[in-house]
Amino acid sequence: MRRTVALLSASLFTLAAGAASAQNATPHNLILFVPDGLRALKVTPETAPAMAEVRDKGVNFKNPHSVFPTFTMANGSAMATGHYLGDTGTFSNTIYSGYTSVPGGDTVTPFLENDAVLGDIDEHFKGNYLNEETLLKVARANGFSTAAIGKVGPTYIFDHTDRTDKGPAPHSIVVDDATGSKTGVPLSDEMKDALTKANLPLTTPGRGDNGKAGDAKTAGTTAANTAQQAYFADVASKVVLPMLRAQNKPFVLVFWSRDPDGTQHNQGDSLNTITPGINGPTSLAGIKNADDNLAQLRKSLDELGLAASTDIIISADHGFSTISKESKTSPSAKASYGDTPQNYLPMGFLALDLAKALDLPLYDPNDKNAKIGDNAHTKAGNGLIGNDPAKPDLVIAANGGSDLIYLPNNDKELADRTIKALLEQDYVSGLFVDDALGNFPGTLPISEVNLKGKAVTPNPSIVVNFRSYVEGCNEPTNCSVEVADTVLRQGQGMHGSFGRGDTMNFMAAIGPDFKAGYVDALPVSNADVGMTAAKLLDLHASAQGGLMGRVMSEALPNGETPKSSEGELTSKPAANGLQTIVKYQSVLSQRYFDAAGFAGRTVGIEAEGSKEKTAGK
Ligand SMILES: [Zn+2]
Repeated sequence: MRRTVALLSASLFTLAAGAASAQNATPHNLILFVPDGLRALKVTPETAPAMAEVRDKGVNFKNPHSVFPTFTMANGSAMATGHYLGDTGTFSNTIYSGYTSVPGGDTVTPFLENDAVLGDIDEHFKGNYLNEETLLKVARANGFSTAAIGKVGPTYIFDHTDRTDKGPAPHSIVVDDATGSKTGVPLSDEMKDALTKANLPLTTPGRGDNGKAGDAKTAGTTAANTAQQAYFADVASKVVLPMLRAQNKPFVLVFWSRDPDGTQHNQGDSLNTITPGINGPTSLAGIKNADDNLAQLRKSLDELGLAASTDIIISADHGFSTISKESKTSPSAKASYGDTPQNYLPMGFLALDLAKALDLPLYDPNDKNAKIGDNAHTKAGNGLIGNDPAKPDLVIAANGGSDLIYLPNNDKELADRTIKALLEQDYVSGLFVDDALGNFPGTLPISEVNLKGKAVTPNPSIVVNFRSYVEGCNEPTNCSVEVADTVLRQGQGMHGSFGRGDTMNFMAAIGPDFKAGYVDALPVSNADVGMTAAKLLDLHASAQGGLMGRVMSEALPNGETPKSSEGELTSKPAANGLQTIVKYQSVLSQRYFDAAGFAGRTVGIEAEGSKEKTAGK
């Protein structure tokens, strides 16, 4: 498919007539660079000079939005397809699959950042669990060279449906954490030869010290993910970009940097204390590491003569928050566990508290459905609640700043009791309920936040957002603190909530198809990234669902600049007065969700009567 780009055609025709430029007939290349978990306002010329340069010389998307739940796989699915999660079914990093995933560890709650799990879930859902076409696959089918390099999971979903175990079928180049292992996508002979010639190993190095999360008594890592990402950056700049250039076709390259996410999660700067949290030196080193990777890619584009013909979109999947494990209401915080400080929430607190409130037994889907006794929690925080773990009444998929609850029997009475129990807990801030279960005071329907569409994976019955607040600095989205259901400790890092700290991801772009020195005040999202990438490449994916982002036309030369407005949704009050509030902005038919939760319990949702401005606008 040839690229036309109606938006640019007038000026290009003028240029071509004058300068007889042959270049205009050739589509531009695209690099999508994802600095995982990079907060928008942490980028300065000091902390991240390469990213600051793209933002300041190219397009500064100053009103960015991660899609909720603000997790990696969820937002990866939005970038890869241009669709919201109600269509892609990637509701978080851990979902209820509705069947036992063997590669996921014989569990109905698989963690999706795993190529073998993705292959298995694809197979279960008729070959494509996303139920939408992905950017690299469509680009490849239209004659582009394609490659995806970086963090395992999101890297692969950009072209995940054509894998065969017989070797590299026609497929994008994929190099991720699993490359060289039995779950990795096989390398072609051409890639193996090129890596060898460049003195690069055929197996991705591990994270080393960066992978150490510590425990309640041992601080986590103080090292960024430099060694592993130096490998990815070398593969991209020394092997893949030269190869793509030699193929002499326009190309699309996705580079997914695990940093700063991995480092902010595991950092050992703040064991059991809220400050400095994710604003300590280790987290800053993680930000700089991602920035160094970007600088290396841009230098390579320069050296290969590709800079002028390559667009770069940078979009973090989500923001980040420091973890709180505090609750005054949680029964599970009052019990004792071998691995959790006294009075702190244990991993899996939501499953524990619900089992207690509903007076039903709790089983562990990540431990052969073992029953959980007193003073214990499940291995990954997930839970099966009910008398028969093979036919649970509730399934809890623990994720971090928000959790998913599934009611496989769609029992409305049980939903009502579950919601009432959740409304009693101080760590809850906002509840979204599957429209199919009906309306419940204190909650809003999941359809209001784009979580109800054509997904083929099971729809969550209740999405539970956890409390967030600001501590440690005066910039709310840089100093968000949130309750998180995770093995990680108070003071380490997490995301996934509906607070502005987690929804405010870093976004910027530069290149021949973008305005230069332009500050975009309109709201934009990661679904828009997918739609805009497709537009730049003149690709037209066929859509199953209708929950699609928009082309960020205002950032393109001669593009339309639509109008935006602000809005708010408020649920009926629950018996105790709590109301789920959603603050959003609108452009055309799109809604951009800034924050959601109960008044005063979410960063960006002010307390009742407060005159404070909403954070992060
Ligand atoms: Zn993360």
